[in-house]
Amino acid sequence: MLNRDDRPTRPEPATRRRETFTGNRALQLEEPLLFEVGRTDVTGVDIDVPEHAGDRLGRHRRKAPIGLPALSEPEALRHYVRLSQKNYAIDSGLYPLGSCTMKHNPRLNEAAARLPGFADLHPLAPQATVQGALELIHELGRWLIEITGMHSVAMSPKAGAHGELCGMMAIKAAVRARGEDRTIVLVPESAHGTNPATAALLGFTVVAVPAREDGTVAAAEVRRLAGEHEGRIAAIMLTNPNTCGLFEPEVCEIAAAVHAAGGYFYCDGANLNAILGKVKPGALGVDAMHINLHKTFSTPHGGGGPGAGPVVLSEALAPHAPLPAILRGTDGGYRLVEHAEDEAALAPFGRMTAFHGQMGMFVRAYAWMLSHGADGMRQAAEDAVLNANYVRAGVQDLMSVPYPAHPAMHEALFDDGFLDGTGVTTLDFAKAMIDEGFHPMTVYFPLVVHGAMLVEPTESESRASLDVFVATLRDLAMAAKRGQTERFKDAPRFAPRRRLDETRAARQPVLKWSPPEPIEDAAE
Ligand SMILES: *Cc1c(COP(=O)(O)O)cnc(C)c1O
Repeated sequence: MLNRDDRPTRPEPATRRRETFTGNRALQLEEPLLFEVGRTDVTGVDIDVPEHAGDRLGRHRRKAPIGLPALSEPEALRHYVRLSQKNYAIDSGLYPLGSCTMKHNPRLNEAAARLPGFADLHPLAPQATVQGALELIHELGRWLIEITGMHSVAMSPKAGAHGELCGMMAIKAAVRARGEDRTIVLVPESAHGTNPATAALLGFTVVAVPAREDGTVAAAEVRRLAGEHEGRIAAIMLTNPNTCGLFEPEVCEIAAAVHAAGGYFYCDGANLNAILGKVKPGALGVDAMHINLHKTFSTPHGGGGPGAGPVVLSEALAPHAPLPAILRGTDGGYRLVEHAEDEAALAPFGRMTAFHGQMGMFVRAYAWMLSHGADGMRQAAEDAVLNANYVRAGVQDLMSVPYPAHPAMHEALFDDGFLDGTGVTTLDFAKAMIDEGFHPMTVYFPLVVHGAMLVEPTESESRASLDVFVATLRDLAMAAKRGQTERFKDAPRFAPRRRLDETRAARQPVLKWSPPEPIEDAAE
């Protein structure tokens, strides 16, 4: 077993001011890296080295020790438990990250996803043996089509951005099938960064649509751009409700203008939580839209699990959906179509994934739908919108609301106008929220608003929890106005790490651990 009597105590990270002997803060334990806590010259298991195995692997011989640190079982366990305790999660508190829809992940979904009949499936299992799983994917797809009023669905994309890529590839295939060469995609200035990135990745030229004074997109501007680039518009990528949390009032006119120009309407559906059960995007003229199961349909994300971004398609784009497709036969059985030749009606652009998508997320999302029902899902959207407006109304006398003319949808947007002259920035404000025990809201997005703060409480929060959150925002806003800058400039003061140099971390990331320089013994 490990013998670590001769080891130094925990190394102290440079970013931390030592206030206790151990570097721990009460029961918040300081945690070094595995490489710092383990040792490479011992083994964590209690078995003898086999006599003839040496360091041979087949005919290959290792040239140097492998260098992996070894830990005993309790040490390994403690390491990961301590790390997990540093993780702020929707299970630990309100998580107001705007545009991310951090809602509660019901445990019922987890129980369903862990049923051996779902959890233990192999993606290459013969189709006859996994009819139930295929049925679940098909049924979930059918609900998504019904909810959105669209024609068909591609289930395999594994994230929102992946879904955007899928939808835009279908649009590209449809344009090509018409024998046309359209190279321009219109993207509003307020769009999520993934929208222009997706269009650019596919070789389209992105033309920005400016936002109006009130934060929304004008149909007249879209018509003007369509005229200016006649015959060259492939699509518009529009988010609705948009990233300022506003419902686009001219969305139908915008769709008509793009269609009249021969283009398609891609809708970023990441914000579906605001309109679930209230508005059918198909009725607004949408041709393709991704749905983030990990936002609207409660499947865990943000470190909690993989995403899933199915894409619903209009009739015009449906033939170009990627494979695989799940079709229901006349005998009631389900068929996974892997090859286009098997189906005359399909003209897929290719495939997005090796298999069928995120099965575990499909089970969770379907469980959420079934447990809510149509009325429950509509109420979730209503409560999400109510909660966002409750927060906005609770602080709007102290914090500045850039677009007061429209009610908020699922998120409340603020700018940094209320911090003018205080010396406190949006970033300082967000960091001070960490000291108060809240994950900060989304900051500096959308870009159309100066020093933006985007708050999305979701329907998960009770009125009592919102009241504490609102009171905290009010207290911080008043502290900033009173000139208590020390509460902000140094924040976070109580977190395991203080303010990091985020620019340097992004520009010069250190992704590889190297052993520290050996420390000279002072006596020598
Ligand atoms: C979250 C989000 C996306 C991207 O989804 P991912 O699953 O993170 O790739 C795209 N657009 C908007 C508006 C979003 O909020």
